[in-house]
Amino acid sequence: RYEHHSDLVIFNDEICGNNEKQFELIGLIHQCATSHFEGFRLFYQPIADTKTGKIRGMEALIRWELEPYGLISPGIFMEWLEEDPCIFDLGNWILRTALKDIGRIRDKIPHFFVNVNISAAQLSRKEFRDSVMTILKETGARPEELCLELTERCRDLDVTFLKNEVDFFHSKGIKIALDDFGTGNSSLSLALELPIDELKVDMSFIKDIEHKPQNQAMVQSIVDYANRTNTETCIEGIENQEVSDYIHQFGATWYQGYFYSKPVPIDQFETLLDVPH
Ligand code: C2E
Ligand code: MG
Ligand code: MG
Ligand code: MG
Repeated sequence: RYEHHSDLVIFNDEICGNNEKQFELIGLIHQCATSHFEGFRLFYQPIADTKTGKIRGMEALIRWELEPYGLISPGIFMEWLEEDPCIFDLGNWILRTALKDIGRIRDKIPHFFVNVNISAAQLSRKEFRDSVMTILKETGARPEELCLELTERCRDLDVTFLKNEVDFFHSKGIKIALDDFGTGNSSLSLALELPIDELKVDMSFIKDIEHKPQNQAMVQSIVDYANRTNTETCIEGIENQEVSDYIHQFGATWYQGYFYSKPVPIDQFETLLDVPH
């Protein structure tokens, strides 16, 4: 039994809590890994400039297409792979695909960028830096076109280590974002200790924000902090007109959410750009 949510398959406890099933599915992922990750697909969600409403970038989001289920949500299988060596190859495939695909858009939009999610296992691997630089060279993408999103688990890594990595990527011109900002551990202290370029405000703060004074105060504080420290902000999870209208007062840098578009394959992303925003 599984559920559909916004075109994605979310496995419920029956699958997630079933070790045998999970083992079988991880085996299938390993098979995909040996066939150039056939079955994995990278989708893209637009990131819009809050001042003009225009699309200026995109976030790459992985999906796994598996019969008979459909497109499986990364929230589940990326978690399984966190301990699995296959995450490095998959992570490189994701980077390579994203940096290839941006080639289809860079001539249409000046300074277009792609955000790529990075797992803690990937970041903590010492070859990671070299992989990123090699893939940039291979694909001909510029470092300024890439932003690495440090997902929640990255925040559990050693701060000195994280600072070194961030400094290295900055020295190459690559940007760093803190994903899911405001949730989990050490969001605030990491923002203080690392020279982060962008905070991605977690979407749990945004849901029904127009009716929630505490959420309003929290999001406004995050954006104010960021604006005072030359840090960009991205407000995620904007699902409808009401929220979109409400959040304009905050002064954030970027917007992202189903209201603008769900994540879509690159072909569809290109046609999105032809529609006036
Ligand atoms: P994330 O990086 O915070 O990505 C945003 C998630 O919110 C995506 O879910 C996106 O489809 C969803 N989303 C976007 N707009 C809305 C909205 O308006 N409403 C709602 N309810 N949801 C919205 P998705 O694609 O299922 O990804 C879940 C998480 O899986 C990501 O969260 C990220 O942590 C991880 N992930 C996805 N792709 C990758 C990847 O390529 N590599 C790694 N390491 N992790 C990934
Ligand atoms: Mg992300
Ligand atoms: Mg996010
Ligand atoms: Mg998230």
